[in-house]
Amino acid sequence: MKRVTDMAAKRAELTPERIAFRDHESGAQLTFRTINERADALAWALDSAGLSRGDRVAILCQNRPEFFLLLFAAQKAGLVVVPLNWRQPPAELAPVIRRSGARLLFFDRQNVGTARELAEECGTVLAGIEAGGDAAGTMHAMIETAPPGPFGTGQADAEAPWYLLYTSGTTGVPKAVIQTASMAWANAINYSQAVDLVSTDKALNFLPLFHSAGINLFTLPLFLAGGTSTILRKFDEETVLDLIDAKQVTAFFGVPAIYQALALNSRFPSIDFSAVRSLGCGGAPISAALLKTYQKHGLTICNGMGMTETGPTVFLMDKENAAAKIGSVGKAQILAEVRLVSPDGATIGHEGEGELQIRGPGITPGYFEDPKATGDCFAEDGWLRTGDVARRDADGYFYIVDRIKDMYISGGENVYPAEVERVLTAHEAIIEAVVIGVPDQKWGEVGVAYLIVAPDRKVDAGELTLWCRERLATYKVPKGFQVATELPRTAAGKVQKHILKQTYLRTVGET
Ligand code: ATP
Ligand code: MG
Repeated sequence: MKRVTDMAAKRAELTPERIAFRDHESGAQLTFRTINERADALAWALDSAGLSRGDRVAILCQNRPEFFLLLFAAQKAGLVVVPLNWRQPPAELAPVIRRSGARLLFFDRQNVGTARELAEECGTVLAGIEAGGDAAGTMHAMIETAPPGPFGTGQADAEAPWYLLYTSGTTGVPKAVIQTASMAWANAINYSQAVDLVSTDKALNFLPLFHSAGINLFTLPLFLAGGTSTILRKFDEETVLDLIDAKQVTAFFGVPAIYQALALNSRFPSIDFSAVRSLGCGGAPISAALLKTYQKHGLTICNGMGMTETGPTVFLMDKENAAAKIGSVGKAQILAEVRLVSPDGATIGHEGEGELQIRGPGITPGYFEDPKATGDCFAEDGWLRTGDVARRDADGYFYIVDRIKDMYISGGENVYPAEVERVLTAHEAIIEAVVIGVPDQKWGEVGVAYLIVAPDRKVDAGELTLWCRERLATYKVPKGFQVATELPRTAAGKVQKHILKQTYLRTVGET
């Protein structure tokens, strides 16, 4: 059986007194030694509570250091952590808990009500993180009363499930993706090699911990490098700007929605970014306009691509070429191999476009207890099928064209909405554009664009049609333009096109 070192134990051995986590709300600082000791204690406590190797433990909380204590304790004890999305109501979380088979649920004060409903509904035992909720015990009490000393052998099964992460739910019901220690190591190497993470680096953790980016981009890679993560309960643009301005951040990762929110903040132009040497982005397309806004301030965002199923890091743009290759996600990183496959199954040579397929040690063994979905996700020869179309240019740089599922056919021609969206967001009055394909009697399908318009700006359909006609083939020009004040989004900030489509069809009376 392949094994990897217990990450917390190893880091505690190497740099015991360095700060691993700083909790922004309480000001508490936790060294690598403390993290490891508490994770050992928690592993003992979970063991004496009757949980054994392979058992699942759920956690419902905003971002906080205790989440990582549970993660490292689970690695020591061979348990599987199931992070829950606190934005979901109990009715949506109950089936998630039932399917995961979690027997214990940790919760924070913000989620007491939901936790109680879930315990009643699913029969799960409750444990508060801090004192307060009327749970059987608390994580803190468990840690205080556990016997001292290391739990287990200091090694973890590299290929066993360590935590489950749910996909963003952009295209439908989120899928539970098994994450292993070996995936986490591969991702750490991929990300830290790409941006040269070192032990003096300081980063922020605010992306939700129930999605891949929150844990893996790049809190675990930075933990392995011996650096410090400041944990915020959740994203708050004022705090993020304050910490950057105070030079408390050397490397930063955000999704496009985060970069957008920071750029729209009136303080943005006066923030001192001089301590930040790396700005990583990924998870969804980022517009050229937004990349250029940052460039105007001397800041280079490196766009990357990954999936929950891939650990997530696969691609990341190098800083040197980011300006010359606007829109590219760069090259596949050191432990990721990629290929492009045409619809007839042929692998595309040097330049070209096709379905992106990936293999390497960062890839998941599959979806939790779902052999059918797992089987569908892999090609016969074992490569992961991403469901995304990508293009490789003559210099070996990759571009994500779109999701295959979002492509629609108008008058017999394939239209990738992302291309139309790029043209629309190049218009100075448009902050965000989302295009969906909808049924049309004459053309089979046509595009409808939903637009978020800049404050104090107006757009009209005639002008936008002309704008698109000058830049796109006629069949790609949307037939409808709708101004929206908000768009349906996942917790990761991605637009849920299937929900927009349902709304559209309901308004025109087709469902
Ligand atoms: P679901 O699988 O539940 O529908 P999801 O695919 O959005 O949701 P994630 O695993 O969070 O769940 O996201 C991975 C997907 O995000 C990729 O398959 C790709 O479509 C998209 N993506 C990631 N990075 C980029 C990027 N830089 N540009 C464009 N798309 C991206
Ligand atoms: Mg997906």
